[in-house]
This record gives sequence, structure tokens and C-alpha cells, in this order.
Amino acid sequence: MSFENLNLHPSIIKAITEAGYTAPTPIQQQAIPELLAGHDVMASAQTGTGKTAAFMLPALHLLATPPKERGKGPRVLILTPTRELALQVSEAASKYGKHLARTKVVSILGGMPYPLQNKLLSQPVDILVATPGRLIDHIQRGRINFSRLEMLVLDEADRMLDMGFIDDVETIAAATPATRQTLLFSATLDNAIDKVASRLLKSPKRIQIATQKAKLDNIEQRLHYTDDLSHKNKLLDHVLRDVTLKQAIIFTATKRDADTLADNLSAQGFDAGALHGDMNQRERTRTLNKLRSGGLRVLVATDVAARGIDVADITHVVNFDLPKFAEDYVHRIGRTGRAGASGIAISFASGKDGVHLKRIERFTGQNITPHVIPGMEPRFKPRPGGNGGGFRRTPNVEHKRKRSWSNNSNSSNANSRNGARQDFNPNGNFQSNRQDVNGNHANSNSNGSGNGNGRHRPYANNNQGNSQRRSTWNQ
Ligand code: AMP
Repeated sequence: MSFENLNLHPSIIKAITEAGYTAPTPIQQQAIPELLAGHDVMASAQTGTGKTAAFMLPALHLLATPPKERGKGPRVLILTPTRELALQVSEAASKYGKHLARTKVVSILGGMPYPLQNKLLSQPVDILVATPGRLIDHIQRGRINFSRLEMLVLDEADRMLDMGFIDDVETIAAATPATRQTLLFSATLDNAIDKVASRLLKSPKRIQIATQKAKLDNIEQRLHYTDDLSHKNKLLDHVLRDVTLKQAIIFTATKRDADTLADNLSAQGFDAGALHGDMNQRERTRTLNKLRSGGLRVLVATDVAARGIDVADITHVVNFDLPKFAEDYVHRIGRTGRAGASGIAISFASGKDGVHLKRIERFTGQNITPHVIPGMEPRFKPRPGGNGGGFRRTPNVEHKRKRSWSNNSNSSNANSRNGARQDFNPNGNFQSNRQDVNGNHANSNSNGSGNGNGRHRPYANNNQGNSQRRSTWNQ
């Protein structure tokens, strides 16, 4: 199928041809006709599948027709969980819409000055890309008129759910005309997403694209068992000296660790920088631009900050600390192997991480193969069944296979140890079914103590008095 078959406006075809796209991706092939026909759509598609163009091209096509209502408010609203994703979506809108007569794109993101946003919102807007929290502030102050709104896109709805933004999303949706067309994109379409969709979408067409399995096929997943921090640092040094490594993203558990590791790597002579939620937007944008231009070889990041990064030269992803959620593992390693390239994802895990690893493997449906680097073997012997397969020597290194571990892990024992935390929904609100790798729910409890990791602290000023409603994911 070619883009011409999709009946998109010629100015859009011109822009995508200039972008070098020769054929629509599967999600584009399936979603675009449904969207042009006016249907609501819910689609499972990960970053890297071309999902942004799948909703942006029909949105722009809509803008090529005269508005049904007069006014200056947005005709298309796109909600994203993170600032970085919002910026990428805005860039895509400008790129694909550059030959259309009018496509004024405005981004309204947390962490940016209000006066500038107020000014932007006082002028005519066609496409508004926003993170939910900041948008709600502007709506409550009466700064946005949604009377012209024709299309609402919820991008990475699963993540908005996990981050506790879904009530905000519903409040925003309620402020838009009921006649709107609604699109929901999510990595997975599970029960929790179905419930959101049943409230916000009308008889949606359901599109299921790549499974995680298919999506990760071009990424080699390696596991290194590690004894301690110094062992991790040695292994990391080895990985970063690999000549096949063009650019890498290293994920740490905390913002502080990201800063420390980036500083240490810079001190060792690597072109390294940190990216996390404590940096202001200008610093984050500067770092990302440096990564994109090749001025940075190693980015040390936390999950949310690195979400959606799309840089073709990222050959390696290193999980210096394992992610807390299995979904994050997929998002992290999906930063490599972009646009059909191959990539290597390396995870460091301690002897205690067997259950973490099992959950991740169950989620992806794929094994993460243990590797050893000769001379850097872990001192401890991983528990048989801790994660599955036996050690593999790192390619090109002559090394004797040490022993293989049994593959019949019984993680249900381990799960039930944590089972008491799994029905954690104190006030019966709609809540994510997601659990972290220890079986804890993604949302925090009402006093913010949650699972004690500080990741899901509720906002301080919750004007609905329900601090579970919205939680930060300020990484
Ligand atoms: P996304 O899944 O939206 O994050 O897109 C992943 C990457 O695929 C981006 O770099 C897009 O520019 C690129 N892309 C999107 N659609 C196409 C297409 N039809 N052909 C080639 N590349 C594409």
C-alpha cells in the first residue's frame, strides 16, 4: 500500500514524501482509513511503529477542511504523559503539516512559564499538544475555548493511567464537545484501558498492531549478573568501550544516580550527560539536542525523562538498575533498534532480582539471556530458575560455558510473598491494574506512602481532596 491510496490531502503527501517515507507502516495502514472515515479508534502500538503519524496525518487532513465552528480555540487536542513526548508530537505536527495553509501548533507543558503559555493561548490555535496537569490549570482559569474542538487524541494512554493522570484526562475530555472524534493509543489494550475507552470513546474501532514480542525482535537482550556497584561500573566501562557502540542510553533508578553516573563517566572521558525530571525544560532540551546531533555519546537517564526519545544512532541501552515496571523495560529498550535497525539491550541484575526478571520476561514473552564477560564474572551464583536460561559468553570471546540454570522457575511462590500488596485500592477509585515487579500497584495510596519508593507522590494541592487522583512521576 502507498500513501497515495490513503486519500490524504496532497500537501500532507508532499511533506511525508519529503520526510523520506515511502509506504505507510502497519498502524498507519489500519488507523488512517478508519480515522478519515470519522470513527473513534483505540489502537495498541508502541513508540517506533509510526503511531504518531498514524494520528497526526488524519488530524492534519481534518485541518485542511474549513472549521465547523468559528473561533480561535484548538481543533485538535493531543494529550501526552510527558513533556518530551509532547515536544516530539509537536515537531511531528509541524513536519507533516508544513505545506498546509494553516497549522498553528502550540504545546502547553508543565515546567514552562505561564505568561508565555497565556500569550500562546490567547492567539488562534489549530493543534494543541499538552500534558494533562498543566492543561487543566489553564482550563480552570478559563483560558481555553474548546468549542471548535473536533479531535481528541490520547497518546500513550496506558502511561497516563499509570501516572495517575486519567482523572485529569477525563476532566479535560468533559470540557470538549461530545461530537468530537476520539483516538486512544496505548502500548497495550488491557482491561484498565478498556474501561477508560468505554467512558471516552464512541463505538471505537479496535486496532491491535505489533505485539511486544514482534517489536523487540530486532533487539538482543542480554543480562549481566552483578555483585555490587563497583562490579556494575566495571561492566559498564567494558560495554562503553565496545567499538560497535555509537550512542547509548543508560537507565538508573533515581535522578541522583543519573547525575552521579553521568559525572563519573564524564570524568572518565566519555561524552556523557544526564537527563531527568529535576532539570528544567531548557536543560533537558539542550541535552536532547546534543544527543540528537551526536555531541553526546552516552545519556544517563531516568524512565520518564527518556520516554519517547527517537534517535537512530542509539545502538545500546543499559539498564544500570532494572526498571520497576515491566512496561518500562519495553519502553527503555525500545530506545534502541529504531526504524528497523538492530540494537543491544543490557540489563544489570543482582542475585535478588530473579522475580523482577521473571515478570519482565513474562511481560515481553522473551528471555533475557545471561552473559558473562571473562574476568568480570559475578562472585555469586545466580539462583537456579532465577531468571531462566544459562550464562552465555559474550560474542567474540572464547569462553567456556560455566553451567546452565534450570528453566523451571516457580515465581508464583515469590509472587504470593508479595501478594498482600496487590489489592491496593483504598477508595475504590478507578485505578490501574498495573503492578510493579513486586506486585505493587502503580498508583500510590492516599497518603503517598505507596510502595515507599517516592515515585508516586501525590500532588500537594489536590482540589478534589483525593490525593490518589493524580500522582507525580517526577523523574
Ligand atoms: P513513532 O512510532 O511515532 O515514534 O515513530 C517512529 C519513527 O518512525 C519516527 O522517527 C518517524 O519519523 C518514523 N516513521 C513514521 N512513519 C514512517 C513511515 N511511514 N516510513 C518511515 N518512517 C516512518
